This record gives sequence, C-alpha cells and structure tokens, in this order.
Amino acid sequence: MQSSFMSFSFGCRVNEAEKQLLDQNLLDAGFVWDEKNPAFYIINSCAITQKAEREVRQHIYQIRKKYPNTRILTTGCSATLWVKNNTKPTGADYWINNTDKKTIPDFICSLTTRPTYTQTDAKTPDKFLHSGKMMIKIQEGCNRFCSYCIVPYLRGTVKSEAISDIVKLIQQTKQPIKEVVLTAINTEAFGKDTGETLIQLLEAILQHTKIERVSFGSIHPWSITDEFLTWYKTNKDNPRFVHFFHIPIQSGSDTILRLMNRQYTTDELLKRLNQLYNIDPHALLATDVIVGFPGEGEKEFEETYQFLEQSPISKFHVFRYSPRPGTAASKMKYEPTPQKKRERSQKLIELGKKKMKLTT
Ligand code: SF4
Repeated sequence: MQSSFMSFSFGCRVNEAEKQLLDQNLLDAGFVWDEKNPAFYIINSCAITQKAEREVRQHIYQIRKKYPNTRILTTGCSATLWVKNNTKPTGADYWINNTDKKTIPDFICSLTTRPTYTQTDAKTPDKFLHSGKMMIKIQEGCNRFCSYCIVPYLRGTVKSEAISDIVKLIQQTKQPIKEVVLTAINTEAFGKDTGETLIQLLEAILQHTKIERVSFGSIHPWSITDEFLTWYKTNKDNPRFVHFFHIPIQSGSDTILRLMNRQYTTDELLKRLNQLYNIDPHALLATDVIVGFPGEGEKEFEETYQFLEQSPISKFHVFRYSPRPGTAASKMKYEPTPQKKRERSQKLIELGKKKMKLTT
C-alpha cells in the first residue's frame, strides 16, 4: 500500500509526456501501479478551456469518492491556475505548480517508506505506451501569447531539454517502444535557450538511437522554416521519420489571425504548406482550427473555409471558441452565437471528411 500509485493526464500531449516520465520515475523508484488501492493518485490537469477545468474538478471529486484513503496530488495547468488565484477545490491533498513538476517523484518518495525491492517487469497500463509510443517533452513554456491562450501564463518561461538528455532518455527507456513522439508547447521555441535546433535534435535521435520511428506531436507553423524544409527534402525517404505533420494554424482568415496574434499571414502559411506538400505529396497534413472567434463574421469564416479547401491539409480538428478568462481575447466583443459556431464547425468537419476521402 505504501508504495503504490496511479496517475491520470488531461489535455495535450505535453501533459501525456510528463505523465509517462513521472510514471517511469516512480516505477524506477520501486513503486507499483495499483488500481485497487493506490497510495498516491497523481492528476496532471489542463486549463485550456473552462470545460477542461470543470472536468478536472469532477475527476478529483470522483477519485476522492472511489479511493477515500489515497493521497491525491494535483499538478498541471488547472492546479497552477487555482493555486495562483487561491481557488483550489477541496478533495486533493497536494498541489504542485507546473514549474515544480520535476520534483514530484522526490516529493512522493519523501512522504512514504521507500520500497526496498527491485521490480523486474515495471509497467503502467498507459494507452500510448501500450501502442508502443513514447511521448517525450522536448520543450516547455511559450512566449507567443496568442490572444485566446492561457498557456504562456501557466507554463512559465521557455525552457528546452538538452538534446543529449533526450537521446539518453530514448536509449535508456525500459519500455518496449517503437516510436518516440516529440512534444512541445511550441516547437518553434525549442533550443532558443540552449543554442540547439530541431534539426540537430532529429539528426541526433536518428544517429544515436535505434528507435524505429520518430514523429512530432505537433509542429507549429513557425517551425516550418527554409532550414526545416531543406532537411525534410533530404530525409523524406527515411522510413524512420513519420510523414505526418500536425500543424495548428487556428484560422485561415488574415483578420482573425491578426486578432489571434498569430503573427503570420495566410499567404505565408499557404506557401509553406505547399512547399511541404511539393516535397512529399504523400505526407499527411493535419491541423487545429478554431471557429467562432470574436470578430469572425460570415466573410471571415468563408475565408477560413476557402483556405482549408485549397490548402494541402486534409485532416481538421475543429474547436468552437470559448473565452478563457485572463486572456486578451476574453475581453473582445462580437463573438458569433453558439448556433453559428455549431454550423461553422459542422461545415468544416464535412469539408475535412471530404478531403480525407480524397487522400485515402
Ligand atoms: S503558440 Fe499560441 S496557442 Fe500555442 S501555447 Fe503558445 S500562446 Fe498558446
């Protein structure tokens, strides 16, 4: 009982990468995964929308009810926000800020009697690991400050992992993995603080590890640079690099992109996407797009629709905008009605289905 745990992650792939690493650290320290009576339950929370926050609150409540004696530790973006605003819900025992996440294994060890045995088959039933995928966080924080996004306020300053540490993590993992998925809050910021680059990271992984496949969780529009395109041109036939690019563009209207503070134009974006497509017409391009942003009238929505129609992107994740308190966009006016958001979301989902059919 003293040395058992469970964990759960909400939200983005960076959170999932953090959970996988935390699980591994606890397993290495001799803890066991126990779904019947875990001594510790760690929640890595998300705060991207108010709905996400609500779900975390509900989860804490459910876990407290299901495991009355477990010690619940909550971390992640909701936890950081609630600690900051002094709005922590009841139910959890410990709260750890995003910036202190790395200390969690030591903190948990300090609360319990350290296990004295070594495990021979230490595993968690993680859904990604189960399918042979290891998420690796390569970077933390963002200084883009897109107007709708709370993340820069909760994830702190940009901090990249050293390439040598990422390579070591892959070389030393005990999990039976086939693919590493490189995840970042903003890939563009990778290496800005360490003087390293994404290309150097990819080269190092391909050269110094035996991993079968390398992919990106998302690669942000600012990372599709001339340098990256040149690298991809010479590596597009390398079967170890997964030819899938999830590029979150968020809108195809210049007016909305400006209001979102995305700092690129649709012309620049389309040029980059076409360059990528011309290098490798078989690569799958996917995106996130928000409908119903403040200021999105029929004209702006139509621009986004046409942009997506003519772009080589064929997979869309469509999100209906909801204001996030504490962000610049939450103070903007002229938000489309919920009905309009539903209709627009439906139209883009239909377009996505049509385009996916054409590519398969
Ligand atoms: S790039 Fe924009 S949307 Fe992404 S984390 Fe940074 S501020 Fe948020």
